[in-house]
Amino acid sequence: MQKAKQILKEIFGYDSFRPLQQEIIESIVNKKDCLVVMPTGGGKSLCYQIPALMFDGLTIVISPLISLMKDQVEQLRQLGVETALLNSSLSQKDYNLNFTNVKSGKAKLLYLAPESLQKDDISTLLNSVNVDCITVDEAHCISEWGHDFRKDYRQLGNFKKSFSSAVCIGLTATATPRVQDDIMKNLKMDHPKKFIASFDRPNLFLQVIPKREPFLQVIDFLNEHKNQSGIIYCFSRKQVDSLHDNLSELGYSTKPYHAGLSDDERNTNQDLFIKDEVQIIIATIAFGMGINKSNVRFVLHYDLPKNLESYYQEIGRSGRDGVRSDCLLLFSYADISKINYFIDQKEDERERLSAKVHLEAMIKYAETEICRRHPLINYFGEVYKIDDCAMCDNCLAEEDDNDKVDVTVYAQKLLSTLKRTGEVFGLNYIIDVLLGNDTDRILSNNHHNLSVFGVGRDLSKKQWQILAHQLIRKEIVIRDSDYGSLKLSQSASDVLFNNKKVFGVIKEPEVKRKKLKSIGIEYDQKLFELLRIKRKQIADKKGIPPFVIFADSSLIQMAKDFPQTENEFLRIGGVGVKKLESYGSIFLSIIKNYLKNNDVKQKSIKQTTRIKKSALDEPRHRVVAKAYNDGSSITELAEEYNVQEQTIVNHLARFTNEGNRIRLDGLLERVTIDKSKQKKVFNEFDENGTVTMRNIFEKFNGEISYNELHLLRVIYLNNRKK
Ligand code: ADP
Ligand code: ZN
Repeated sequence: MQKAKQILKEIFGYDSFRPLQQEIIESIVNKKDCLVVMPTGGGKSLCYQIPALMFDGLTIVISPLISLMKDQVEQLRQLGVETALLNSSLSQKDYNLNFTNVKSGKAKLLYLAPESLQKDDISTLLNSVNVDCITVDEAHCISEWGHDFRKDYRQLGNFKKSFSSAVCIGLTATATPRVQDDIMKNLKMDHPKKFIASFDRPNLFLQVIPKREPFLQVIDFLNEHKNQSGIIYCFSRKQVDSLHDNLSELGYSTKPYHAGLSDDERNTNQDLFIKDEVQIIIATIAFGMGINKSNVRFVLHYDLPKNLESYYQEIGRSGRDGVRSDCLLLFSYADISKINYFIDQKEDERERLSAKVHLEAMIKYAETEICRRHPLINYFGEVYKIDDCAMCDNCLAEEDDNDKVDVTVYAQKLLSTLKRTGEVFGLNYIIDVLLGNDTDRILSNNHHNLSVFGVGRDLSKKQWQILAHQLIRKEIVIRDSDYGSLKLSQSASDVLFNNKKVFGVIKEPEVKRKKLKSIGIEYDQKLFELLRIKRKQIADKKGIPPFVIFADSSLIQMAKDFPQTENEFLRIGGVGVKKLESYGSIFLSIIKNYLKNNDVKQKSIKQTTRIKKSALDEPRHRVVAKAYNDGSSITELAEEYNVQEQTIVNHLARFTNEGNRIRLDGLLERVTIDKSKQKKVFNEFDENGTVTMRNIFEKFNGEISYNELHLLRVIYLNNRKK
């Protein structure tokens, strides 16, 4: 493995392996077949590319999409790795050149589309060389259970048989066990080892806001992502076109993408996006397959996706380079109705039911009050063990005690209306009763004679909706996933009869997105821009996508560390010897010039290795916690990172949660409530866990602040470790 590490550093320019990469490489080098299931951006390619450089013979890579193949080959060539591809898109001259390189053994890797395997010239070629490894990318295409079945993939099992000394690897980002089994069976793998990586994508920032004035909300969001590349997903073609018109009129760099455009238009638009000519693609779900642009910095969902699988795939197209990327979903109840309407058009009842179950999971994700990674990751059958991911809106939002009031009386009104009308109606009907609207339906059901008729006139329709959704989130009210009718849960009777208090918001939420505290990476944006422009110039000259030259993560690190010598430049992630040779002097001279003409050096260098480390190598909470353990105080750290003290406490909580210890002295002195109350809080933690503070906050009727609760949580978690 020494050799593998050396290749990782010298060729690829990385210091350490990502989770599972090392094990997978070891298995491949030892010629053990394996199946690799890893989310997009997890780093699958390296797993077979490094062994390919260690084997004497050829590594064949089967990949379904020609566009993807081209980018990958280009990326390898930029790293100085001899790579060939053979397909119909090449000119005869290029085809011959690639062919010769494989035949002579010069090329270490050969990329092929599955349909090429049947071609006579190719099969003669492959039989004349020594093949050490057969890699099947997007291996789920072999399974009819996968979402992207391809007939051509079916013959891969037989193809493989004629290369008995080659190891076989299947790679996919699709997780279902059924598809996994299908892959191993159809590829006729020999006692394969399975490697399944976590589905968490820790660098994606997850956020959901109520959709109110979507166009303004989009503008607001885009203005926070100036000069960045991103995708906006819409439900319909019409919506795509109109959003594109409106945004481009305002000067935003956008292009549309949907099934209504000609192939040519779609390809052109996609190409412009990949080459950073256009910043924003506005698309229906038709967009994204076969894109491996690594510097997509945001994905905005203008409409609600139909299910969590699509949502996960779509947001997964951002942040492949590991740099923070923002995923925003605009959520509205009208969208749910729209999707339900389409589901109801389906003929097959089983299909309808399954679509509803999937939609329900999507809604749960959008409505959750706890860390969004819980409903998301758990959906894929994996248990997400961290309470507080620090990378979603719920984990980061300052819990807003001010907006919360005692809403028990309103809750009681709504619950009794549900009860009196028989728990079979949907929300709109219930609100009509509360507001005393004598609709035909209400009159025919005789509900205008109920005592609850009109008892809710003190709130607006909108306010009742908001309240109802909070009761659903708190599981006091349960929504039937088939019919949308509302029912009372067990705990509803506590509210109705035992005077259990309910806290919530009845104020209509503001239209604007809550400003979340920035947790971005500190780097010199001006320098980054200069480097980005240079990257684009070089890419254009060579006719390749910019991210193939350097990933965003590499440019960011340059704009943070200011390398000035070749050795320093080699320390940048993603810079190997070949990239240093090709681009080192150009980029170094930009950096040196910049430092000479700007007074940045002092400031940035002073930002110590701590911040440097935090951005790309080590998660922020660990860096903070270690600094804390080394003696920095919470106040000092909050100042250093320019965040509230609460955030630092949250980092410490997360660190403890991962099984680490922290020193307690600095925490204990901040606790203000007395011992007996502390004990009560700890008992609550014992009983109900530490995932959400909200229940406990409400249990103590808001007497213990969130700040205090978060603090006690850290102390609790730390003591539990003893
Ligand atoms: P996948 O095929 O799983 O979607 P890729 O193989 O394209 O992911 O890798 C995603 C990104 O992560 C690429 O930019 C790649 O260079 C980078 N990467 C892969 N392995 C490492 C590593 N060990 N350290 C740093 N970056 C890595
Ligand atoms: Zn979270």
